[in-house]
Amino acid sequence: MTEPDPPRVIAFDGDDTLWHSEVHFQAVQDRLRALAAPWLSGDELDRRLLATERTNLTHYGYGVKSFALSSLEVLLDATDGDLPGPAIAELLGMAKELLDHPVELLDGVVETLDALAGRVRLVLITKGDLYHQWCKIEASGLGPRFERTEVVHEKDPATYRRILTELDVDPQRFLMVGNSARSDILPVLELGAQAVQIPYEVTWAHEHHDGAPHWPVLERIGDVLAYASALPEATDRR
Ligand SMILES: [Mg+2]
Repeated sequence: MTEPDPPRVIAFDGDDTLWHSEVHFQAVQDRLRALAAPWLSGDELDRRLLATERTNLTHYGYGVKSFALSSLEVLLDATDGDLPGPAIAELLGMAKELLDHPVELLDGVVETLDALAGRVRLVLITKGDLYHQWCKIEASGLGPRFERTEVVHEKDPATYRRILTELDVDPQRFLMVGNSARSDILPVLELGAQAVQIPYEVTWAHEHHDGAPHWPVLERIGDVLAYASALPEATDRR
């Protein structure tokens, strides 16, 4: 196998690559299971919620507000429309807690971005609710480290193609770093660009990918430095 070209642009995913996200969703989903226990088993709640979230993607897109509306739909359906007001209030409270949760960076994120600065163009490509993602980018303090931040509603080949065109970078010189095979790796490889996966401790069922990875998998974000060791020195900027 030939060595890939040194990237000119390294793009990072946000949720579960730069900052924690899915652990907070799963903690709230545990509480949702308890809330739904009078009407649904935990497994049934999980199954119905995933199916409803998938159906609703075309209405709401991704994110906490979509999660909350889909949860409400599942509970209304399970109670034949007779969901008690206090349960609705608790659900809304859980969603607000998720939205207001402090942004916690993964270990090594700041050091890695600082070490890459000046050697490659750095881009952030994150998926989900526009307002919540903006809030998270702002709260992370990472915004100024990126030449460009993109909040997209779906990470598919067309989205990446648009971004690569706007960045004026050859696919071979673009490296995507992210936790999700489905969103951060496969659509990028389809364009002939490079991608490395850094799996997070938990994965949302919708993002699950079966099959062994045929792309590079790193353990932690700091490993990107060694992976991209063939990068030009800090003075050689495009
Ligand atoms: Mg992610």
